[in-house]
Amino acid sequence: MHCPFCGASDTKVVDSRLVAEGQQVRRRRECVKCHERFTTFEEAELVMPRVIKGDGTRQPFDEAKLRGGIQRALEKRPVGIEAVEACITRIKLKLRATGERELPSREVGEVVMEELRKLDQVAYVRFASVYRSFQDINEFKEEIERLSANPEANGGSQADS
Ligand SMILES: [Zn+2]
Repeated sequence: MHCPFCGASDTKVVDSRLVAEGQQVRRRRECVKCHERFTTFEEAELVMPRVIKGDGTRQPFDEAKLRGGIQRALEKRPVGIEAVEACITRIKLKLRATGERELPSREVGEVVMEELRKLDQVAYVRFASVYRSFQDINEFKEEIERLSANPEANGGSQADS
């Protein structure tokens, strides 16, 4: 763990406690060189399901993106960072608990909205309005139906084999 202030590689833990229902360890660290203090949140690395996007492509679960979206939704809301981290941890637990290796992005979105609603009503409404405008589920379903009803419409690549 490098010091974020001076880049020194030697830091010591001055305090350590469990947060987010025991899923994370919050550590207070001090740089041995410049003596600045900072906090880290650490948790066991577990495999997250991949996310199936609306166009069928698969992407790795992006925690930084999730955190960014939640933080934008929480702008100027009286919600502390530990509550946000606990919320993200619950979302990840729920996604892992599905036992699926891949999950449609709209299912991920639903889990996020469910947890956000418990965290902060205003943030929930903000997130839901942004999320829903990005994703027209009916349009996606229509596209799938169109492709399965008429396979030739799908590029016609079968003709080569
Ligand atoms: Zn330092």
